[in-house]
Amino acid sequence: MKKVIPDNIRFRDHTVLCNHCQTYRPDTDYSEKALNKGFWFCRACLKLLRLSRRSNVTYLINSIYNHQKREGTVYTRLGLSSWLQSSEEFMGLFRAWILSDYDPDKKPSIIRKDATKPYDYHNLIIGTSKGNNALGSKVIGFYNGIETPYISAAEGARVYGLTRKGVLLACRSGKLYGGVRWRFG
Ligand SMILES: [Zn+2]
Repeated sequence: MKKVIPDNIRFRDHTVLCNHCQTYRPDTDYSEKALNKGFWFCRACLKLLRLSRRSNVTYLINSIYNHQKREGTVYTRLGLSSWLQSSEEFMGLFRAWILSDYDPDKKPSIIRKDATKPYDYHNLIIGTSKGNNALGSKVIGFYNGIETPYISAAEGARVYGLTRKGVLLACRSGKLYGGVRWRFG
């Protein structure tokens, strides 16, 4: 059921006072969700707020940690945060992502070297979303009539003494590489 918006918030002329810009705006300038939540921020203010969160590294690290937490971390949220904020690699990628106007492919991303082990500092690969997606893909090698899954292209490459890039290219092209037929898992 919809919450009744108090009279002091939604006025007779259907204006609502935005608690952020302190302006009376027509109630159509608010999302119903915001009004029902009792969160009197107009759409324009909410948009600005979202944009300012995006440029906040703590906000990004929090969302990274929330994702990792589900699969197990050996560090705390605060531990990861200070570790990443002192990482030149991570902060460099973060700045590049902002400069790219938040290109989703360039968003900083963290995956594990070994996905069977928990998130730990020595088990992290810092990269961009696009790079890590390619790197983190599971691959399957078909050799001597046997299909073997690998947790990553890097792992498959290591087993056969090949390069990760070569394995990824072979997954895409479908050509044999190192005598092995590769595909994404
Ligand atoms: Zn506002």
